[in-house]
Amino acid sequence: MNIAENLQQVLNELPAGVRLVAVSKFHPNEAIEEAYRAGQRVFGESKVQEMTAKYESLPKDIEWHFIGHLQTNKIKFIVPYVSLIHGIDSYKLLVEVNKQAGKAGKIVNCLLQLHIAEEETKFGFSFDECREMLAAGEWKSLSNIQLCGLMGMATNTGNDEQIEKEFCSLSSFFKEVKDSWFADTPAFWELSMGMSHDYHQAIDAGSTLIRVGSKIFGDRIY
Ligand SMILES: *Cc1c(COP(=O)(O)O)cnc(C)c1O
Repeated sequence: MNIAENLQQVLNELPAGVRLVAVSKFHPNEAIEEAYRAGQRVFGESKVQEMTAKYESLPKDIEWHFIGHLQTNKIKFIVPYVSLIHGIDSYKLLVEVNKQAGKAGKIVNCLLQLHIAEEETKFGFSFDECREMLAAGEWKSLSNIQLCGLMGMATNTGNDEQIEKEFCSLSSFFKEVKDSWFADTPAFWELSMGMSHDYHQAIDAGSTLIRVGSKIFGDRIY
């Protein structure tokens, strides 16, 4: 497993305007350091404790993205340093992030997670729930969060057509939301979609942030 080579392979395929989040969850600091030496600065983690331990022991110019399911009682641990929270899946969570960010005197960047997969286990708003939340308008008074875009995960399937359909549905929903609520918000431009097995399709459908783990770091040991 040559992390620097794997990383370079993925980077070589990225069109302008698409960034890579190297998903380092369950991999040790040494693996991150290897990618860091090869120039990678954006890393994604899905457990608060693990990400915080890595943040504390690794170079401070790393951008940490939280891509997991966030529990409200743990928000305070990541607010001081997190660059982007990908998985906001309820209004309540957004309110909590805003509260903790306010206490820390920060503005925290967030993505709303949409449920686009057929699997029931994946978190996220339905399109209608998200529309309702945005239309209700209360989010506009949350001054310590910045909504930067949307995130989603396609069904884990070998059916390419289905994956394409799911990514395209999220991409057109992004356009709807951008036009309706964020036309004058340049910061709202991220569409986080695409993992090791489906990032090519995600890029074709308009992804701006792909989250790739095993293709770079190898299989995870749980
Ligand atoms: C683990 C994870 C990834 C990376 O998955 P790979 O298949 O290893 O590329 C991407 N996004 C989320 C939300 C994840 O939990």
